[in-house]
Amino acid sequence: MILIFLGPPGAGKGTQAKIIEERFAHRQISTGDLLRAHRANKTALGLEAQSYMDAGKLVPDDLIIRMMEHELANAKDVIVDGFPRTVAQAEAFDALLAAKQLSAKAVVFDVDQNVLMARLTGRWTNPRNGRVYHTIFNPPRVPGIDDEDGGELIQRPDDKAETIEKRLREYEEKTAPLIAYYGRAGNAIHVNALADIAVVTDEVVKALPGLAPTGHAA
Ligand code: ADP
Ligand code: ADP
Repeated sequence: MILIFLGPPGAGKGTQAKIIEERFAHRQISTGDLLRAHRANKTALGLEAQSYMDAGKLVPDDLIIRMMEHELANAKDVIVDGFPRTVAQAEAFDALLAAKQLSAKAVVFDVDQNVLMARLTGRWTNPRNGRVYHTIFNPPRVPGIDDEDGGELIQRPDDKAETIEKRLREYEEKTAPLIAYYGRAGNAIHVNALADIAVVTDEVVKALPGLAPTGHAA
């Protein structure tokens, strides 16, 4: 089963995807992490995407769709985090899934706009694997250092207030309509993403009885 994590920047999609990935057989595919890796490797896609990302704008659909067709070539049990973000992307994704005879379910992260700024300005990210922390809500044991790989955490350049505002506007305009898109198809479940991280995980897991455990401890 393909899971689509849908919600605004800061809703907790990446946090939950990493937790689910550790506990269940589902693997996370994050478009943001993929694009940042393309930028770090200076690929043609990375070079094209960077001005949009730095401006808090969505990267053009054709670039994203091409990247995801490649990434999803052998996907079966995945969490897609950050895609689709426009109706055009959702339609392209539907066509891809139909061709593979796969189905997808959207997990909608319901959250109030007013918590997002604090979540994003306090976010610290491991640039090597996309794992995130928060200075207050989920602090690492040593400030600025990842608990697991011991490497440095960074603040993403687009996690500054003025760019966050632009990203939230892009979300409202282009991505929020997807909640109704998946709802109409009867393919959306909602979780209360205002709750504490562990409570959100419990809600996601309860809503998805089909998740296959990997055997790792919770
Ligand atoms: P998204 O992938 O949806 O943009 P993240 O998972 O990166 O969101 O979370 C954004 C920030 O909020 C991170 O700093 C993360 O530690 C923090 N966070 C995530 N979930 C919660 C939660 N349920 N309560 C409080 N803070 C959270
Ligand atoms: P967040 O976790 O805060 O929601 P992401 O890491 O998912 O942010 O995305 C960072 C940036 O990458 C976005 O602001 C956008 O420029 C670009 N991006 C990521 N996914 C997509 C997508 N599906 N379509 C267009 N642009 C995207």
